[in-house]
Amino acid sequence: METDELQLLREQAAARQFIDSEFTALFAPEDEALRSAVEAISAHNMPQIAISPLRGRMLQVLALACGARKILEIGALAGYSGIWLARSLPPGGRLISLEVSEQHAEVARASFARAGVSDRAEVRVGPAQELLPILTGEAPFDLVFIDADKPGYLVYLDWALRLTRMGGIIVADNCIRRGSPLRQSDDPGTAALGEYDRRVAHDPRLVSVALPIAEGGLDGFAVSVVVAPPKATAS
Ligand code: SAM
Repeated sequence: METDELQLLREQAAARQFIDSEFTALFAPEDEALRSAVEAISAHNMPQIAISPLRGRMLQVLALACGARKILEIGALAGYSGIWLARSLPPGGRLISLEVSEQHAEVARASFARAGVSDRAEVRVGPAQELLPILTGEAPFDLVFIDADKPGYLVYLDWALRLTRMGGIIVADNCIRRGSPLRQSDDPGTAALGEYDRRVAHDPRLVSVALPIAEGGLDGFAVSVVVAPPKATAS
C-alpha cells in the first residue's frame, strides 16, 4: 500500500479512537455499578461482548423517546446493557431480560443489585426461543433490545413484532459488523444479520435505520419504530 494511503488510514483510526473516547466521556461516563458489571465479565471468564457505554446511552435515549415503561431484552450477559435500560425506566417500570446461561443470569442479577435496579429488572433463564411465546400475556412491550445469538435474530424479530406496541422501538445490536451482513456469507450468524437488516428495511410495519454507533462507526444498531399495531402484525 502507498505510504500516503497508510498515513491516511492511521489518521482515520486515530480520529475514530479520539471521537469514541471523548464522546464516551462526554455523553456516557460509567459509574461504579457499570464498571463493576464490566469487571464481573472477566472475573467470571465470560466473553467480553457487552455493548459499549455510548450504545448504552443510546438505548436510554431511545427508551426515553418512546416513553418506555416495559422493556424486553434478549441476551443479558452480565447485566451491563440491562443497567442502562433499567435506569431509563420511570417508577413502576419493568425490564425483563432473557438469558440462556444460568451462570450469566446470576452474574447479571448481582449487577442489577449493585446498580440498585433489582426492584424493576429481572432475568429469566432459558433459550429465548422458548421464553418469548410465554411473554405474550405480558405484552405489549415499549422497547425490545435484541442482543443474543445471531442465528436467532430472525425468530427474535418475529417475536418482537408480536410483542411490541405501535410506536414502540425494536433495537438489534451488531447489525453493521464492518459491512459483513451486506455480503454473501456461509456463516449462519452473519447471514441472519444480513437478512435481519433487509427485513427491517423493507417491512411496511417498521420504519428503520442502521445506526453506526460502535467501533468508530464500523458496527452498531438496527433501530426500528413499529408503525402498525401488534395484532395486525402476527403472522
Ligand atoms: N446485552 C448484553 C450487554 O450488552 O451487556 C450482552 C449480551 S451477549 C452479546 C449475548 C448473551 O446472549 C450471552 O449472555 C448469551 O449467553 C445469551 N444467549 C445466547 N443465546 C441465547 C438464547 N438462545 N437465548 C437467550 N440468551 C442467549
